[in-house]
Amino acid sequence: MNTNREEVVVHWFRHGLRLHDNPSLIDGLSECDRFYPVFIFDGEVAGTKTAGYNRFRFLLECLQDLDKNLKAAGTRLYCFQGQPTDILERLIEEWGVTKVTFEADPEPIWQERDRLVRELLDKKNVQCVEKVSHTLWDPYEIIENNGGSPPLTFSLFNLVTSTIGPPPRPVEDPDFTDISLPVSQNHDKQFGIPSLEDLNVRPECEEQNKRLVEWLGGESKALELLAIRMKHEEKAYENGYVMPNQYHPDLLSPPLSLSAHLRFGCLSVRKFYWSIHDKFEEVKPSMGAPVSLSAQLMWREYFYTMAINNINYDKMETNPICLNIPWYDNPEHEEKWTQGETGYPWIDAIMKQLRYEGWVHHVARHAVSCFLTRGDLWLNWEVGLKVFYKYLLDADWSVCAGNWMWVSSSAFEKVLQCPNCFCPVRYGKRMDPSGEYVRRYLPVLKDMPLRYLFEPWKAPLPVQQKAKCIVGVDYPKPMVDHQKASKECIQNMKAVKDALMGREIPHCAPSEEIEARRFSWLPDHTPSGGHCTANFLCDGLKDMN
Ligand code: FAD
Ligand code: MG
Repeated sequence: MNTNREEVVVHWFRHGLRLHDNPSLIDGLSECDRFYPVFIFDGEVAGTKTAGYNRFRFLLECLQDLDKNLKAAGTRLYCFQGQPTDILERLIEEWGVTKVTFEADPEPIWQERDRLVRELLDKKNVQCVEKVSHTLWDPYEIIENNGGSPPLTFSLFNLVTSTIGPPPRPVEDPDFTDISLPVSQNHDKQFGIPSLEDLNVRPECEEQNKRLVEWLGGESKALELLAIRMKHEEKAYENGYVMPNQYHPDLLSPPLSLSAHLRFGCLSVRKFYWSIHDKFEEVKPSMGAPVSLSAQLMWREYFYTMAINNINYDKMETNPICLNIPWYDNPEHEEKWTQGETGYPWIDAIMKQLRYEGWVHHVARHAVSCFLTRGDLWLNWEVGLKVFYKYLLDADWSVCAGNWMWVSSSAFEKVLQCPNCFCPVRYGKRMDPSGEYVRRYLPVLKDMPLRYLFEPWKAPLPVQQKAKCIVGVDYPKPMVDHQKASKECIQNMKAVKDALMGREIPHCAPSEEIEARRFSWLPDHTPSGGHCTANFLCDGLKDMN
């Protein structure tokens, strides 16, 4: 390479929308003369192809915050619209770019885009630097350490990663000093971040702009939330437990989740991991960290790794790790579930929260996904996946699909033997004992007495009249009878299992009971102190075991 030539670097942001712990950005800034941070709207970047209003808004907030932080460092974010190869080719000509850096996007859906870009850079003799930091480890390293294929079970996955050793610690913050950072006078006009209107993204309903819980995108907010979260973690460690977000499922308070920030990479997963581990070490220096300390981050990692070589990971038929289950085809049922008009207030409240706010608690995701698939409606998980892809702020191509397969017994699980079928009445009562959650998202039921809140069709007519909510008029009747539907689903699952008799399906054999329990965030004990099985929660299955 000619050492006298001016080194002109473009850092191409896609995910990884942050300045902290950004190894490819650091690489770009080392030995750099002139620097440009770039973001390209190509209709797909960062999941924009499937994103609804809330997630799009969250992304724009991430970009605005990034631009603000870049401005403080003396530069600005350069936004473009078009195909990355076209834009980069133009920039190579106009700016004399000599090097392009970017964070590796681990999912297979981005591989073709990045292959074309690498090809272009190679052709133009422009250096290309790509570094892993969206995941804890390099997924390819995990696969290599497992003999060339992804570890098929979660326990094997944990074993393999433990042989690799702990993930890398975050890298230093970027230093922009002594680098030329050109910014034109009319930067905003030429390269500014487009608005939602510019992009033709509009709210679906007025609730999406009410922002009852204000999920704000961006690195600054993510770091602020991390500090709050770490206080919460610290208190838990002092009180002898870990994973506080799971230990006390709380559907009402402003959530302490960082999942959407991890999804866009405005928080580094490595920073999160090491904050948790260092804090534990600080609070409990004499105790080894329990495996569960960062187990949730491992699930994220696991799903990414499982998906990396599987472009059909989000599908049933063509996805080799997914069981082909003969789900029903019922567009009317799909629509009722999607709209939150199932007639089960617990399910409907969750679907409304999903649409209005974009973030719902894990137990709530579990309830609605189970209801749609193996619990009640016996509909294909792909139906639910599409809805989650659209509305969830943290919707991740592989993490979301992985969870849907898990919940629907299509993969990963101790196949078809898990009776964790959640009753849409009793599960709701347990998770929302005061009924405040249901009333918040279904104001039509706000005056329904708690006794009938989760099953309003059982309220005598005068009670319904007094509550100004007549079932079948103001609020729908239950779309299915859970007692009957859940039994039918169990029969269907049994038939699937019988048809598989004798055939090895290694990818579907993992979970032990404890793993299934942890995944579903089930308590270990019932209120009376007995061992809590999922059936305890489920009326419909009461007499079946
Ligand atoms: P914490 O307990 O604080 O966990 C820390 C982080 O670990 C999370 O922020 C998340 O990044 C990761 N994590 C936690 N649980 C899981 C899990 N089961 N699988 C993978 N990663 C996990 N999570 C997503 O991030 N994106 C999705 O698209 C997504 N889709 C889901 C779909 C279904 C049907 C279900 C049942 C779950 C889905 N989840 C998804 C997993 C989980 O519900 C959320 O990650 C969790 O609710 C986030 O809450 P938290 O940040 O408080 O979790
Ligand atoms: Mg399949």
